[in-house]
Amino acid sequence: MKSFIIASNNPHKVEELDRILNPLGIKSVTAKDAGINLSEVEETGETFAENARLKAQAAYKISGMPAVADDSGLMVDALGGAPGVYSARYAGENATDADRISKLLTELKDVPENERTAAFVSSICCILEDGSMIEVSGRCNGKIAFEPVGEGGFGYDPVFVVADGRSFAQLTAEEKDKISHRGNALRALKAELEKYY
Ligand code: IMP
Repeated sequence: MKSFIIASNNPHKVEELDRILNPLGIKSVTAKDAGINLSEVEETGETFAENARLKAQAAYKISGMPAVADDSGLMVDALGGAPGVYSARYAGENATDADRISKLLTELKDVPENERTAAFVSSICCILEDGSMIEVSGRCNGKIAFEPVGEGGFGYDPVFVVADGRSFAQLTAEEKDKISHRGNALRALKAELEKYY
């Protein structure tokens, strides 16, 4: 089985990436397990794709192993696409998921249901043994709820409502993977990887 470094410190993302890479015969190794420190990698890009590339390149360079990185976030139409690449830092550096959700709901408090459209976006960059780079992205459309619902998932999941009226946090892991931005990006990655392996 091939091993890929997952260039993320977010255990939820590592778990989601692993769930989808595993059936491709790829074993995910976290940066921590590989003994490499990626905390210094700054996400200075202006797009999800640029940030994913920065993280994957750093992991590949430090470890010498194939690396995969995701950069993702929430784009809310009524906020002109914010928080976007700043999704993780939306309520400041040390804020919690609850703080970020609370800030988002406050900003949207006067926005009616039909204008609460949003999308989760994921860009994935994968660098293979020989240095060749695969870049893919995925998207999932939804709406921002008026209050958090559901216990599963992470981040903004409790306020992201999909077509059937449930929030991402109310879906099982498998249900989320089937429609999520990261799931869609990973399926595109799978198609590309199949050309190499
Ligand atoms: P990144 O680590 O810079 O890519 O941060 C992405 C941020 O976007 C995360 O900290 C979450 O707040 C949010 N995010 C990305 N994907 C998801 C998801 O699947 N569910 C909920 N929030 C997400």
